[in-house]
Amino acid sequence: MKLIILGPPGSGKGTISELLCTKFRLFHISPGEILREEVKKETTIGREIKKYIDTGHLVPSQLVVEFVKLEIQRRKNYILDGFPRTVEQAEAIQDWNIDHVLYLDLDQEAVVRRLSGRRVCTKGIHNYHLTFLPPQNLGRCDIDGSPLLQREDDQPAVIKERFKVFTVETKPVITYYKQKGLLRTIDASGTPEEVYAKILKIIS
Ligand code: AMP
Repeated sequence: MKLIILGPPGSGKGTISELLCTKFRLFHISPGEILREEVKKETTIGREIKKYIDTGHLVPSQLVVEFVKLEIQRRKNYILDGFPRTVEQAEAIQDWNIDHVLYLDLDQEAVVRRLSGRRVCTKGIHNYHLTFLPPQNLGRCDIDGSPLLQREDDQPAVIKERFKVFTVETKPVITYYKQKGLLRTIDASGTPEEVYAKILKIIS
């Protein structure tokens, strides 16, 4: 199965992707994570990428498509988390035979509420929320035990910019997949369990 999961920042793409990967043994591809890894390496390209991420802007599409292609190789079952985010990216993968495009729909107010409380493990893989999804041990990841951090781009001004970028750049991708009959829109305002249950109904 090949899935795409889209939605504004904070709509729960990462959390839902993890659940779907476990259930359906999918390979999880998150350009956000790949790009943050590159930033951590402090390469020349990593320093360039950091400027885009820290200000809430999209990294140039050509580069992101290259990273995703390298990750995907010849895999048959995967979920693309937060990709494609522009029509240019969507067109670059038009022959990938995607089964469903899951769109987690959430308004801006809820986005700000969620992201300001979000914490991620030091490895940048596992997500928590101070109110909605607290870790069992305060300040530590339940899965790998690493300290929890707040992402640089989860600051209020950057959150607003990211939502704006989503509206301008990624909403047309939603329309693109709607026209292709692949779009499944899910109200993402509930708990992760509620949203996940709705998705299972759709794809099974
Ligand atoms: P995410 O972890 O998915 O919220 O992504 C964090 C940041 O990585 C975004 O705000 C962008 O700067 C960058 N990014 C992630 N996915 C993409 C993409 N498909 N195209 C361009 N930039 C991306």
